[in-house]
Amino acid sequence: MSFSRRDFLTTTALGSLALGLDAQGRNPERKNGGQSAESHPGAGAGKRPIMVCANNGFAYLDRGYEHLSKGGDTLDSAILVVTGPEDDPKDDSVGYGGLPNEEGVVELDACCMHGPTRRAGSVGGVRNIKNVSKVSKAVMEHTGHVMLVGEGAERFAVAMGFPREDLLTERSRKIWLLWKEYHSSRDWWGPGLADPHWQAPEPTGERKPRAELWRERVNQLARRAADLGIEREFCLAAAHRIIFPPTGTIHCSALNEKGEMSGITTTSGLAFKLPGRCGDSPIIGAGCYTDQDVGSAGATGSGEENIKVAGAHTIVENMRHGMSPHDAGMDALKRIVRNYNNDMTKLRFMDMTYYILRKDGAYAGVSLWEGYSEGNPHKIAVHDGSKRSEETAHLFKGYSQEFPPFPKIPDALKKESEYLK
Ligand code: ASP
Repeated sequence: MSFSRRDFLTTTALGSLALGLDAQGRNPERKNGGQSAESHPGAGAGKRPIMVCANNGFAYLDRGYEHLSKGGDTLDSAILVVTGPEDDPKDDSVGYGGLPNEEGVVELDACCMHGPTRRAGSVGGVRNIKNVSKVSKAVMEHTGHVMLVGEGAERFAVAMGFPREDLLTERSRKIWLLWKEYHSSRDWWGPGLADPHWQAPEPTGERKPRAELWRERVNQLARRAADLGIEREFCLAAAHRIIFPPTGTIHCSALNEKGEMSGITTTSGLAFKLPGRCGDSPIIGAGCYTDQDVGSAGATGSGEENIKVAGAHTIVENMRHGMSPHDAGMDALKRIVRNYNNDMTKLRFMDMTYYILRKDGAYAGVSLWEGYSEGNPHKIAVHDGSKRSEETAHLFKGYSQEFPPFPKIPDALKKESEYLK
């Protein structure tokens, strides 16, 4: 490869991004204290039992809801949902098949809170154990601690009977390899000088037009993805994952008929992260928070930003003080915005979705941006007897650039990609 991510950064004009503020989420104090039916997108009035989760849990909501509606424990019901993506090798944001850290090792984070007994458990940076959601529950039930990390967490899981297994699927390994090669104008990964496709790095100052650079780079990545054996139909998606290291994660909150509630969040975290990095997902109060008296909330998105506003805890506290789920979530998003002094150029490069459930069954899904790209809006999955996906309410109109900061591949260019012709 003849280009690096740094090259990309220096050749792009980020300031030209068109931004627009949406009018949603600006009614902080509702006169009725938020007790009435929600009128926002991604928000609904109280009904019990109910489960809300990230949309990658949609396929597993039925089994969780069945357990919940038959009187099953709220945390066990939520675990039935989140173990779906954890076990699925094709979900590369959670559990088995998750995209690895920069050294090619999958490291998982999870935490849970059990409302009825007011307990919590958490694990961070766990290797070789697939169902870290269940390990976080085991920490809660079988230790006097709340959080275990790294090797200690892995050894605890093995002691509890969890099998040690290799979590890196072939597909995730190849995507990681592609990511390594992407840096190869400055290291020895990827084909070298002798490769027929090798190109000299561009001399500084002689930049091609932006559109041409995109075309070349996307094509190069897609071609290398094919050379590495990635399925043809997935090559472009693999290229996208390299340019925009993805996040994913699943959160699920459950409320039963009696008003008991629990929440859980599990993830492989930010792809290609530094080894040992923990995001918000294992942080009780950030990635997940449940208070039996009030409600439950969880998060997916830019973990570093969410930790700084203690997102899930902030939302539950806001509801305690009378805000509706929608307004409570919007307030947490506005705190993220405040941390950047409303600098829209920076805010474009982060995103956050909150999944919020109040004790009376009212719920909301809110996000910083509309979605990742046009036609790909953020969604919340809900089951209260009928299962559905709903678009979240968003603070800003438009699409995040995802993170780390990188401009999007224009759709037109994707279509033009030589590789796909
Ligand atoms: N919040 C997760 C993390 O930062 C990633 C995600 O939700 O997409 O690890």
